[in-house]
Amino acid sequence: MTVFRFSPVLIGAVALSSSLYTQSSLASEYAAHEHGVIHLKLAQEGHQVSVELSGAADGFLGFEHSPKTEAEHEQLDKLIGLLKQPEQLFAFAKNCQLDDKVLSIPFKDDDHDADHAHEKDHAHEDDHAHEKDHAHAESSHNDIAANYTFDCKSGQASPFSVKMFNLLPHLEHLRIEAVSDRSVFVGEREANGTFTW
Ligand SMILES: [Zn+2]
Repeated sequence: MTVFRFSPVLIGAVALSSSLYTQSSLASEYAAHEHGVIHLKLAQEGHQVSVELSGAADGFLGFEHSPKTEAEHEQLDKLIGLLKQPEQLFAFAKNCQLDDKVLSIPFKDDDHDADHAHEKDHAHEDDHAHEKDHAHAESSHNDIAANYTFDCKSGQASPFSVKMFNLLPHLEHLRIEAVSDRSVFVGEREANGTFTW
């Protein structure tokens, strides 16, 4: 298994941006890029429940670059499979129906489409050549997000079960915000479990 390590420069960059976010009044609007952390946001309006999983790609995969090795390709494939079947990652008290899902993954496992990837690289260089220096610090970090909409008309959204820790071995902290007519729940989990919201 590939072990991803920070370089000293990256540790400095992450620490700086974290402290900026902490001091900023916008702290609640921006989730800092933290390795090993995934944010779980739940919101219920009527019988519609939205679920968002987001965070540094590190927490989902253990790396943040386009997959290079066979093991990394397999990890990305496995992750995409899990995100497409969210019932593996979490569960409502009683069946809520998945209506919609949107995955936001910055790199695709598309080694079978080499021509396409090649075109992309060229376009990127042309468009952003003048921004290279600016973008350089960010280029080694990527975020992943998955957004789901469920219909809980004949289901029950609470309690909510977190099942993803065994499946995402690079996940260390799950930061949870859950809002409904019933309550507001804010918490953190480091293992699978259930919470009422
Ligand atoms: Zn990162």
